[in-house]
Amino acid sequence: MAKKKGRVFSGARPTGRQHLGNYLGAIKNYVALQDDYETIYCIVDIHALTTVETTQDLRQNTYEMALDWLAAGIRPEESIVFVQSHVPQVTELHTLLSMVTPLGKLTDLPTFKEKVRQNPKNVNYGLVGYPVLMTADIVLYKADTVPVGIDQAPHIEFAREIVRSFNYRYKTKVLIEPQMKATKVPKVLGIDGQKKMGKSLDNHIELAATPEETQKRIMQMVTDPQRIKRTDPGDPDVCNVFSMHKIFSPADEVEMIDTECRRAGIGCVDCKKRFAANLNKHLEPFRAKRAELEENPDHIWDVLHDGADRARKIAEQTMEEVRAAVQLP
Ligand code: SF4
Repeated sequence: MAKKKGRVFSGARPTGRQHLGNYLGAIKNYVALQDDYETIYCIVDIHALTTVETTQDLRQNTYEMALDWLAAGIRPEESIVFVQSHVPQVTELHTLLSMVTPLGKLTDLPTFKEKVRQNPKNVNYGLVGYPVLMTADIVLYKADTVPVGIDQAPHIEFAREIVRSFNYRYKTKVLIEPQMKATKVPKVLGIDGQKKMGKSLDNHIELAATPEETQKRIMQMVTDPQRIKRTDPGDPDVCNVFSMHKIFSPADEVEMIDTECRRAGIGCVDCKKRFAANLNKHLEPFRAKRAELEENPDHIWDVLHDGADRARKIAEQTMEEVRAAVQLP
């Protein structure tokens, strides 16, 4: 087997069934990275607690998310796939890192300010320390590579600062400064054609939806707003359906739509039906694998527990080194 280029860590909150935005923004890349890197993928349930009001769906959401990841091609025999809280060493490292992280920097972060703005009644201590826990997630597993979109670059830079502060304070090199692997993350708009695809806005298309449900959702997609009548020429460049065609449809069909839309040679209904057919075809293997995995829910939990066992081994080794560096008695 070829030598891997490094160790990747990435985490995502347990949001249940995944949608096209999750697939194009993260999962597709997770699958591809397995070929070149040691990969560690974590469902960050503790992070979710900073904003969720109720935890009753946490377990089911974790299960559904893991199921979708595996169905999409994450290979648990290669990748470590686990749940954040199953490796409690992360909270210990979080506490130790918090001692070298200036509070003012945390409260100055635009992401923190945005969260406060969104939810002024729930500004909790965990929310302030979120970037510290995120750093602990990465460095606990000695990951040297973190795949993120360019907009996430400040978070990784901040993680690197925390690592430098820790290593400097304790005169050690035990923690690795992670590098960002800039990943081209397409901005996937929801069926409203306006906002980023997301469950909270109910503008998403679930990967696990049936072909019929998928087509129904696609038929609701907003197209070029200037195209009111079938005989109006359209502009594919401002149409979200066309953006999706470019990802999921064969090149000759994309070219045909590009030409025909502009001279009203194709209607939006036909165009959407074509997209639905192409997307459903693309998702066939995912759905087949998902159905197979779903027959044995225990298997998903076994995968997550096995992943936690493997992650815990790395974590405990790191923590032994960290405790020694800090000179905890
Ligand atoms: Fe969009 Fe297709 Fe309608 Fe053109 S024909 S506006 S690309 S849905």
